[in-house]
Amino acid sequence: MEVEILVIGNEILIGKTLDTNSNWIAKRIVKYGHKLKRITAIEDDIIIISNTLRNILEREPDMIITTGGLGPTFDDMTLEGIAKGLNRELELNQHAYVSIMRAYEHAYERGILKLEGMTKEREKMSYLPQGSIPLPNIRGTAPGVKLKEGETTIFILPGVPAEMKAMFLNVINPILKEKRGKFVEKGLYFMGIGESQIAPYVTKLEEKYSQLWIKTHPRIGLSLEVEISITGFNVENGDALANQALNEIREVILNLGGKIRER
Ligand code: ATP
Repeated sequence: MEVEILVIGNEILIGKTLDTNSNWIAKRIVKYGHKLKRITAIEDDIIIISNTLRNILEREPDMIITTGGLGPTFDDMTLEGIAKGLNRELELNQHAYVSIMRAYEHAYERGILKLEGMTKEREKMSYLPQGSIPLPNIRGTAPGVKLKEGETTIFILPGVPAEMKAMFLNVINPILKEKRGKFVEKGLYFMGIGESQIAPYVTKLEEKYSQLWIKTHPRIGLSLEVEISITGFNVENGDALANQALNEIREVILNLGGKIRER
């Protein structure tokens, strides 16, 4: 599957919050052999959210995952922005309403919150774009949302990492597992020869093994060390091909007088 992540939140763009959500999600997408095509971070703004969503939909990913901006305050605009982007109305979702009401009741009974009952702000979270399936939030109050637009499934998750992770593991992980692809990642470290010296050989290998992505990453340290990594998504015989490419690169490094450190 091809996946895009849309991170929504002013606090990320002003540097107040480090976007750890997309990194956490990225690892899981790749682990199950899916391709994360893009991560976009935008502010809480209805027009920007709707336009960005439309842009992403034009690329026709199989899945879009958004995080952030689901809360009760006026600056949480994700649902409104998504609804606008899809030309759908926001409508009261009874399931969402009841689950939000219960979550607040529970928090009030346990003394976590002092304000009882549904307020306008709390009710706001139960207005979902038409066609939404609410996703229970076991760690918080705002439900997530699952939507379908054409062939694309859209998951709208909360920004709070604990809430996002719980929802992701419950709902998205099983889908990633079921539709798993094959991801190959192999590599080694080398020293004694520079990245630029090996670059022409890597280019040749890239041409020969065009299904694989062969990349060098310089590592900063006292002894200049370069990592070479070979990755591939859903490549037939990917494992064997990557081993073959890695063997060729070993030979090149040794011929050039470099040293190898296996990972
Ligand atoms: P809730 O459902 O609890 O109301 P929300 O969806 O409204 O959450 P936000 O208001 O966008 O979430 O963010 C709440 C907090 O979650 C932020 O102040 C920040 O601490 C954290 N957060 C939001 N987005 C991210 C992110 N991408 N990476 C890490 N932390 C994040």
